[in-house]
Order: sequence, then C-alpha cells, then structure tokens
Amino acid sequence: MDHFELKNGALHAEDVPLETIAREVGTPVYVYSRATLTRHARVFREALSALPSVHIAFAVKSNPNLAVLHLLASEGYGADVVSEGEMRRALAAGIPARDIVFSGVGKSKRELKAAVEAGIGQFNLESEEEGVELAEIAAVLGKRASCALRVNPNVDARTHAKISTGKAENKFGVAYDVAAGIYARLAGLPGLQMRGLAVHIGSQISDLEPSRQAFIKMGALMETIRAEGHEVTHMDLGGGLGVPYKVGESLPTPDDYGRMVHDVAKDWGVTLMFEPGRVITGNSGVLVTEVIRVKQGASNPFVVVDAAMNDLARPAMYDAWHDFAAVNPTGATMVANIVGPICESSDTFAMGREIDAVKAGDFGVFRTAGAYGATMANTYNSRALVPEVMVDGEKWGLVANRIEPETILAAERVPEWLKQA
Ligand SMILES: *Cc1c(COP(=O)(O)O)cnc(C)c1O
Repeated sequence: MDHFELKNGALHAEDVPLETIAREVGTPVYVYSRATLTRHARVFREALSALPSVHIAFAVKSNPNLAVLHLLASEGYGADVVSEGEMRRALAAGIPARDIVFSGVGKSKRELKAAVEAGIGQFNLESEEEGVELAEIAAVLGKRASCALRVNPNVDARTHAKISTGKAENKFGVAYDVAAGIYARLAGLPGLQMRGLAVHIGSQISDLEPSRQAFIKMGALMETIRAEGHEVTHMDLGGGLGVPYKVGESLPTPDDYGRMVHDVAKDWGVTLMFEPGRVITGNSGVLVTEVIRVKQGASNPFVVVDAAMNDLARPAMYDAWHDFAAVNPTGATMVANIVGPICESSDTFAMGREIDAVKAGDFGVFRTAGAYGATMANTYNSRALVPEVMVDGEKWGLVANRIEPETILAAERVPEWLKQA
C-alpha cells in the first residue's frame, strides 16, 4: 500500500499533485511519501510484536537520504550501515551510536577505528581476519567492540543472482562449518565482546522457505556455541523481504515473515535483530520523469524519457521491473519501449509494455523506486545528480538538491604539466 494515487484524474503524492513538483523542481526527481514510510515502518515493527526482544536496524544503503533516516529514527529505528559514510549519515540523523550495526565484507582499518571511536553498537564480522584486526584497534583505544559473527548458511534465497548473498560461493560471512571455531577464538580476544550471530541471505526475497531454513541452521549453530561455553545474546536475522513491483504481484507480507520468525526463534532467549531496507522504502518513493519525445521504432514506439539508468539503475543492473504510469492519464493506452537518453542499450526501462498513452511533454512515474533508486544514482554521461523531494500531506520540500554537472566539473583539474604542450 502506498500514498501515490489518482485524485481528480491526476497522480498525487499524498495531497500534492506530482505535476506541481515536476514543474517546480524539474525532472527527473524522486518523490517520497512520509505517510507511506511511516506506515511501512510501523507495519514491520507490528509484525514482530509477538517476539520478546527486538531491535530493528534500517538498512541505510536502500535509501540513505538524511530526511528518510531522520523519520525512521523518530520511529525508533536503528541503522544498519556498510561504510563510514553511512555511519556518519545515521549519526547525523540522530540515530544513537549504540543502535547502529556496522555490516560489510570490506570494512577498512580506518572505518573500524572510526566506528569504535563513535561507540557503534555492533560490528557484524565477516571473517576471522576482520575480528583480529578489530580486536587490536579496540584494545589500543581501550575499548571492547560488541560483535556478531556473520555466517554464510549456504542456502539459496531463490532471488536474482546479483542480490543473492547466502550461498557458499558468495563473498559474505564465514562458512557455516567453521563458524563455531572462529566464534570461540574471537571470544578469547580481549578487544572483542562476542555477543551473537548474523545472517542475511539476499534481497527481494519472495519465498520465505529459504529464510526459514537459514534461521533453523542459525539456531542450531547458536546451541552449539552455547554448549561450548560461550554467550549468545543477540541473533541478527538480516533483511531481504521483497516488495511487489508489479500491480497484482503477491509476496509474503511482514506478518507472514513475523509468524515464520516467531515459529523458528521465539524460544532462543536472545534479542532478535532485523535489517529491513527495501520493505520499508521501496513503495515509499517514485521517480518522476518527463517524456522528451516519442520516436518510431521497428515494432513498438520508443518513449524517450528524461530519467535514465544513471538515475535509476535497477533495470539495467538486475533486469528489474518498475511499473510506469502517466501523471495525467487520459485513459488511453499504448504498447511501447520506455528508454532513457544515455548512450547504452541497457538504458531501457521497459520493452513492449502496455502503458498509459503519453506524448512529448507529459510527465510519468516509475513506481516502487524508493529503495536502491537515488542511492545508486550517478552522473554518467555528465548528467546531473537527481534531486529528492519528501511529501507530507499538503506540504512538500526538497530533501536533496539537484547537483548540476557544473558543480562536478568544478572539482576537476587540468594539471599545469599537461597544459605545457
Ligand atoms: C542490503 C542488506 C540489507 C537490506 O536488504 P533489503 O533487501 O533492502 O531488506 C540488510 N542487511 C545486509 C547485511 C545487507 O547487505
């Protein structure tokens, strides 16, 4: 459910016509709905309410905008960060350091040090080597870093290969069979406080069975580690719950997920931690674009829009589907290919799709663009970095400016020695 709906024939974000934002800010532009974000945050929390002790850390990488983080902080969400930059954002948004989880397979020494100094609540270690480095850094600073060991459970999440993270061949975590030994060795290091295990098998999960299998394996591993005399007080079950990208698509709901977790983990006697990203932000945002022109094609017309793969990379990266809708639909439809202006054939949003009929100058939206949208944007083809807007009822405002190519050009230099022919 979201708050991007037709009112009097015009597509609105809550009570604001998208055309108003498109004309005032220019296109392309991301638009987020505060009511949708809040709703998703509460629905997810409510779905876990039968569990005794829960900590939810929003996966910042899905949408790191400061206003989004601020809103989720006010909903009591912590943050799951994967870089020092994301950590700084979460802190700037008012998320307490103790509520931040630091994930990621390649945390540098500099990042580990910065995170220990900031008092980050939990490090999800991805290797024994990382644990040893962190222990040294923490000891030098006179601290103990709270840690979970990320385990690769070797299950297939049955999602797109590029967003699958829990199979043996993936780079994430330590192998299941050696995890208990690594945990025991790391627990013996004075700089570390080993407190739990972490798992995250992938993203856009549309079938709960692989997650259930992974969680059962994690529960068994927890028992083994406890039997060897070590404490396990936290179990981080990661994120990954999928969202519908197509009208009518049916996926497991947060309630289905909550029931499954409850079945598996209710008696673990730990604080359960979750790292949802997409399920909170996905349907909370759209990318508004203007049709530049419609050009004839071999079979279908090409609708050339001013948004491109640099603004929304998911179709080019993962063959992802985003529903397209006209901002002021006439009721007529057309079958078309929707493409951006970038000089790459992968800059294609849809092929041979039935869409609202549009013509040059019309505005349209790509839906479900709130997760892995603006956060992946870049300036390829020397295009601007796409701006972001938040709507709240009748109020709206820019939450990220458009960064013009001139600003980026100003950061570049031609050295004197290159000028001397
Ligand atoms: C990306 C990621 C998440 C969030 O995934 P979603 O599919 O957006 O819920 C959570 N945890 C880790 C470790 C991740 O890498």
